[in-house]
Parts: sequence; C-alpha cells; structure tokens
Amino acid sequence: MPFLGVLSMFEDTYKQRGLRGKLVRKLRQKGIRNEAVLEAIGRVPRHVFFDDALLIHAYEDKAFPIGEGQTISQPYTVAFQTELLEVQPGDKVLEVGTGSGYQACILLELKAKVYTIEYNRVLYERTRAFLPLLGYSPHFFCGDGSKGLPVRAPYDKIIVTAGAPIVPEALMQQLADGGVLVVPVGGRDKQKMIRIRRKKDKITREEFDFFSFVPLLGEKGWK
Ligand code: SAM
Repeated sequence: MPFLGVLSMFEDTYKQRGLRGKLVRKLRQKGIRNEAVLEAIGRVPRHVFFDDALLIHAYEDKAFPIGEGQTISQPYTVAFQTELLEVQPGDKVLEVGTGSGYQACILLELKAKVYTIEYNRVLYERTRAFLPLLGYSPHFFCGDGSKGLPVRAPYDKIIVTAGAPIVPEALMQQLADGGVLVVPVGGRDKQKMIRIRRKKDKITREEFDFFSFVPLLGEKGWK
C-alpha cells in the first residue's frame, strides 16, 4: 500500500513539525498571504501521505506520486487554490479529485463542510479508509466529478484538483448564490487557474497563473 507506512503513520516528530514550519515560511515567501490557509498547512502532517521510501520528500514544495498514476499536489498549488477559494468556517465545499485526501484535510482545518468526489475507485477506497484514522472525515463519494455532485448541490465553494479542458458547466450550475469555483483549465499538460464567481445570474471570471495538473477525466473532462 503506497502512502500507508503504519509505523510512521501517526508520528509527528519535532523534526517533521520543524520541516512543516519551514514549508509554511517558503509558501509565505512565494506569495501566499491568507494566514488561515498557512496555519492549516502548518497543522496537517503531509508526511503521513507518503510511502516510507519517499518520506524525506514530504515537506518539499513538490507534487509526488500516490499510486494509480495520480499525485498529491504541490503544497504551493494547494495553498494557491485554497486561498483563491476564500473558505469561510461553515462553507459547504465540493472538492473534485479526492486523491490522497490531503487537500480535503486542509479544507476541514478551515472548518468547511467537505464533500469530496474521486473517479478512481482504488484511491477512493484507500482514502476513505485512511483519512478518518487521522481524525479527518469529509463526505466521500466515488464517481465522475466533471459532472459535479448534484445530489448535494448547491455548494458555497467548488475546487477542482485536476486539469479540465473547459470549465464544466455543471459545476457552475451547482454553485450557490455568492459561490466561488476554482478550476485549472487548459491543455493536458498545462492549465491556467480560473476563478468563477456567481452572484445571482451574473458570472464573473478571473484568470491567474499556469499550473500543471493531472487530467480531469470523465464525461466533461479528457477522454
Ligand atoms: N486533491 C488531491 C490531493 O489532495 O491529494 C490531489 C488530486 S490529484 C492531483 C487529481 C485527482 O483527480 C486524482 O486522484 C484523479 O483520480 C482525480 N480525478 C480525475 N478526474 C476526475 C473526475 N472526473 N472526478 C473525480 N476525480 C477525478
């Protein structure tokens, strides 16, 4: 099982806390300003998501494989997307692309109600079993998040953690009034971060930096 090194799973040593503090300082230097987001990153033990062989890389600002051809996103990317999302305590947040569950933990640390959907059944099963062991319990779903999760809509915030070819229409429709959607959109290898706001029937769109995500699959994603 890749990132489930049982012995190291619950250990959060002085050294690991120190490395996490260093990572937070690095993210601040790179321009992340939201203190609540930085504090959340400072609290979630990223090393427990890593296989023992990769443990020394846990607090590097890099994406890493989590199996099934997928990745745990780079901490800067997690921080950037979370900052754009403007999470408030009590917000109902949909995350598309559960992956390792790390981003869901950050959202839970921000006191959001988190609904997370994963397309890959192996990752879904693994993360649904693992996260509660750490004390994090979002609502888990397995399915095609390119169509959102209509059964629990609307959402105050929606975050997509895989690269989409276009902004999926269903996600805009599932945004509550005043809601925010953050989604990387573009080609298979490189995408621009997009923020969409919905105010009644008015939609506004902002564009940010380029990032490199694994592709969003499914009906409204890449085939
Ligand atoms: N948020 C994750 C984390 O914290 O580890 C990182 C996610 S990884 C970069 C992207 C994830 O999106 C992968 O686990 C992939 O299987 C998932 N994915 C791709 N297409 C999807 C879809 N249509 N619906 C739901 N999940 C999808």
